[in-house]
Amino acid sequence: MIPISSPQFGEEELALVKEVLESGIIAQGPKVAALEQEFAKLSGTQFAVAVANGTAALHLALLANGIGPGDEVITSPFTFIASANSVLYTGARPVFVDIKEDTFNIDPALIEAAITPRTKAIMPVHLYGLMADMDAIMGIAQRHNLAVIEDAAQAHGATNQGRPAGSFGTGAFSLYATKNMTTAEGGMVTTNDPAIAERVKLLRAHGMKVRYYHDVLGFNFRMTDMHAALGLAQIRKLPMFNERRRQNAEFLNQHLKRVVTPHAPEGYGHVWHQYTIRVTDGDRDAAVKKLTDAGVGTGIFYPVPVYRQKVYTELGYNQSLPVTELVTQQVISLPVHPKLSSADLETIVAAVESL
Ligand SMILES: *Cc1c(COP(=O)(O)O)cnc(C)c1O
Repeated sequence: MIPISSPQFGEEELALVKEVLESGIIAQGPKVAALEQEFAKLSGTQFAVAVANGTAALHLALLANGIGPGDEVITSPFTFIASANSVLYTGARPVFVDIKEDTFNIDPALIEAAITPRTKAIMPVHLYGLMADMDAIMGIAQRHNLAVIEDAAQAHGATNQGRPAGSFGTGAFSLYATKNMTTAEGGMVTTNDPAIAERVKLLRAHGMKVRYYHDVLGFNFRMTDMHAALGLAQIRKLPMFNERRRQNAEFLNQHLKRVVTPHAPEGYGHVWHQYTIRVTDGDRDAAVKKLTDAGVGTGIFYPVPVYRQKVYTELGYNQSLPVTELVTQQVISLPVHPKLSSADLETIVAAVESL
């Protein structure tokens, strides 16, 4: 079976992890600081603050922007549940706006109608490695004086008009095992605002600036040097990983004729976290079964709009956004990761063309 994702480790990761073990500093230490520096460069920001996972990155990015009880945050319902859950953790309420059919990202044309006096932030999600329409979103945010928190969990190294993901608003990245680069579990907050960087640092370590003096209610959301060692090796390979993903996606785009293939609009640097087709003329379950039988691993990201998840319906959410409803029924993600061989790509094409 060709897996839908496959992390890649080599001598570089082993050497850096060994260094950490031999140093005796295994929790947050110099490797975390080094990874933060390299990550800030990647995202084109002044600061990057490492945390335990991507959900914690979103949560602290929201808190550092002053989001809390009584506030509303506009976001996409076509995403991993962590995007919206991080808003709930702060006591604020996620407000879901429909997506665009061709990009799977939040539709900026629908955002202004969802703004109320309680709206404090917009959280676009750069789904599958393609950035949201940040030009339009930043314009709306400026007009209405809203914060922007980018869920860049799937967009390491992605760009929009040459500007990297995580450099428009406050960025939140995940370094989970399946992402374009990984520390097994891990996250990163990126910003150009020193006050936000300071606040995230304070909140990730129990609100402690001076040892054992706690000014605010914080968390233990620190990353360890063990994880950062993996991250340092991975971030140096990321350009190569992303280039391979791009080449794989290009091959699939050229050879798949019978399904709706994804594309990168002009001016967008897509990093192909997922390669997602739409089955518009039939039974998705049957298609998944056929692909599995042909040895092609698949993923459905995501089968249910966030507002239809039980956690949300029990909070009173009762919505039906047409594009989200449609694509949750149609999407299938195919393997596009850097480990695919030419033979794997041929197998994927043959299997999809015979659906
Ligand atoms: C992976 C992911 C997250 C959460 O990151 P974790 O590291 O798993 O906590 C948030 N949003 C999106 C879109 C993701 O894909």
